[in-house]
Amino acid sequence: MLNGKVAIVTGGTRGIGFEIVRTYLANGAKVVLFGSRQETVEKALAKLKEENSGWEVEGKFPKLTDAAEVERAVLEVKEKFGRIDILVNNAGISQSTPLYNYTAEEFDKVIDLNVKAVFYAILPAAKIMKEQGGGCIINTSSMVSISGQPAGVGYPASKFAVNGLTISLARELGKDNIRVNAVAPGVTKTDMVVALPEETVKAISARIPLQRAGEPEEVANAFLYLASDLASYVTGEILSVDGASKA
Ligand code: NAD
Repeated sequence: MLNGKVAIVTGGTRGIGFEIVRTYLANGAKVVLFGSRQETVEKALAKLKEENSGWEVEGKFPKLTDAAEVERAVLEVKEKFGRIDILVNNAGISQSTPLYNYTAEEFDKVIDLNVKAVFYAILPAAKIMKEQGGGCIINTSSMVSISGQPAGVGYPASKFAVNGLTISLARELGKDNIRVNAVAPGVTKTDMVVALPEETVKAISARIPLQRAGEPEEVANAFLYLASDLASYVTGEILSVDGASKA
């Protein structure tokens, strides 16, 4: 579904991002994953190469909250592969601190990675996509971007902002043949969720209409659809993959 396309996936070393990378590679894309540390990037690359030594995958670890570093890394991908067809902004941190314990620094940390870093990556990538005649940007939102959450206000605020970026840029960049969408996962079985006590996972699952948490593969499939030509007329969409959690 993505034969010959070049993709960047931030936060691609584990969890949902890693599954997006695998899915894109399995569908013929060349992928550069961005992680936060050399060690985790190398580990992820080794795992992927072990699965299929023919996959064209590389890794970088720019500081995503530094606009200049991100720009440099994006330009390096364009230099190496000649184009950038897909940019997935997936790296993110969550937060559940109650308001009365919240600090300004904690709020900044969430906004810096979940919102500003998304903008920093889009800026150089969109220019490249415009020059080459089009492209596709997919941001990772969350079901809390629709429902909010009872503590840790920085996290839903950041994901509401991601939706705002997505919908607005879809309107602005449509004329340049750049589609901009987001995927809004519900509770997904990444390290974060797997580490929770079984009872907690059961209680969460019971409230979900599909009665279970999502698998990272199920979320990655939405990223595959949105990146593919099957979604050629889909832009400005926030696609929920949450078992109807927010319904
Ligand atoms: P995860 O913690 O397993 O992975 C997060 C990824 O982001 C990792 O690859 C990590 O290296 C990267 N990252 C974290 N801090 C970074 C930093 N400072 N600089 C660069 N990279 C950094 O989490 P996940 O569950 O796979 O989450 C991925 C995305 O999905 C996030 O945007 C998250 O908000 C969103 N999401 C997750 C869930 C869920 O239930 N797991 C639900 C809704 C949305």
